Amino acid sequence: MTEITCKLLVIGAGPGGYVCAIRAGQLGIDTVIVESTKLGGSCLNVGCIPSKAMIHVAEEFEKAAEAAAGKTPFGLTAAEPKLDLKQAVAWKDGIVQRLNNGVAGLLRKAKVKIVHGKARFRDGKTVVVETETGPKTIQAEAIVIATGSAPVELSFLPFGGNVISSTGALALTEVPKRLVVVGGGYIGLELGTAFAKLGAKVTVVEAQDKILPLYDAELTGPISKRLTALGVEVLLGAKALGPTPKGDGLRIETADGKERSLPADKILVTVGRKPVTDGLGLENLVLDMDGRFIRIGERCETAMRGIYAIGDVTGEPMLAHRAMAQGEMVAEIVAGLPRAWDKRGIAAICFTDPEIVSVGLSPDEAKRADHELKIGQFPFAANGRAMTRHGEAGFVRVVAQAGSELVLGIQAVGQGVSELSAAFGLAIEMGATLQDIAGTIHAHPTLGEAFPEAAMKALGHALHI
Ligand SMILES: Cc1cc2nc3c(=O)[nH]c(=O)nc-3n(C[C@H](O)[C@H](O)[C@H](O)COP(=O)(O)OP(=O)(O)OC[C@H]3O[C@@H](n4cnc5c(N)ncnc54)[C@H](O)[C@@H]3O)c2cc1C
Repeated sequence: MTEITCKLLVIGAGPGGYVCAIRAGQLGIDTVIVESTKLGGSCLNVGCIPSKAMIHVAEEFEKAAEAAAGKTPFGLTAAEPKLDLKQAVAWKDGIVQRLNNGVAGLLRKAKVKIVHGKARFRDGKTVVVETETGPKTIQAEAIVIATGSAPVELSFLPFGGNVISSTGALALTEVPKRLVVVGGGYIGLELGTAFAKLGAKVTVVEAQDKILPLYDAELTGPISKRLTALGVEVLLGAKALGPTPKGDGLRIETADGKERSLPADKILVTVGRKPVTDGLGLENLVLDMDGRFIRIGERCETAMRGIYAIGDVTGEPMLAHRAMAQGEMVAEIVAGLPRAWDKRGIAAICFTDPEIVSVGLSPDEAKRADHELKIGQFPFAANGRAMTRHGEAGFVRVVAQAGSELVLGIQAVGQGVSELSAAFGLAIEMGATLQDIAGTIHAHPTLGEAFPEAAMKALGHALHI
């Protein structure tokens, strides 16, 4: 058996793991990274990147279809669009491939050794990796678990055949005529919306009484409206029961307790993600767990000295940029730098139509934390750039502490607001006050102008409403 020794071993090359390894390499740490599938993890291969590529395809298709139907308010007409979904998927796969190669190049540049295979802990300092050329033993002073997450499967609706996960949905080469989405969280709605734009008849089945349960009704309102306009049926308070006897649909229990069958060519199950720890040999360690997730402290340390965990395997918020920030921090900790998790906010985005972005506290969360609040909201209906983009739905909302005027949270819903997350995140991280935001000149005409206007509204003197 081949023996490798190193200072830092990273298990899993998703955004958490590969960033950790690159930063460690930059800091001169002798680093090995083990990956059982493809570099880049869920995010790059079956998550963030491919989903945004397919959302883009759907948006372009919808715009062309609108023009073909003569439905644009500015008189654009075009021929009936046709989409070769196979080619779209190949284009998406090409982007993924380029990014895979990019991650490999960055790891090599940082002098990180890449080992392909599945890692399993033998003890707190030793991992055995099953590689194509046989098992390799890796001894490390510090080990980072960055094994990520996988889609939750429903026992009564297992993946296979017509029942697909987000990964399956991103690989479809034909648009299903009827798509039932089980789960109205962001992954289900992002993909459901994309397929609706591509022509599928989409039904969303959500057990709770609202879609996107993590966001308030003001934020989700424009999404519900748009789903209706796209012909998406959203069944709230409805539970999936299992496939129909013929396998041509989904049996559900509706909110009023009645059983109903929804015909479906594909059933997309997006009911959450679970940590990937199976086969990792956790039974050979003594870690504290948070349910099925690995419990960590503010330095991403686990209950065992020298073992860290980052990213989705440590629970919510399961976001690529959180995993990356944790990975970077842990590399610096292993290098002996004084670091701890001191982030004030992590932006969360739904790439729905329109998009939602939220950083810091929502009004309800801030109220629960006993803050006296000043809240300012500015509608895109009063923003020139939103109008010229034909995207007036939505708003920017700023939540601040009364008295100190410290901004506690910022939310927005609207077309293209994902790009505002940079400004929102910076404001929260820098401890901005309402006056700081109101006093920053924002270029005209941009969607970003709604941000100081919302701050000014909270201060009682918005200019454009
Ligand atoms: C459809 C979809 C859309 C998404 N969109 C977004 C988005 O827009 N923005 C966002 O921030 N997040 C998004 N996410 C979530 C994002 O993908 C995850 O938060 C992110 O990938 C987590 O990174 P990670 O490094 O913790 O784990 P992962 O990316 O899951 O990577 C873990 C890696 O570890 C490897 N591994 C596991 N076990 C072993 C082992 N024993 N040995 C060796 N290797 C192992 C796996 O093969 C995998 O490559 C999306 C997810 C999905 C599914």
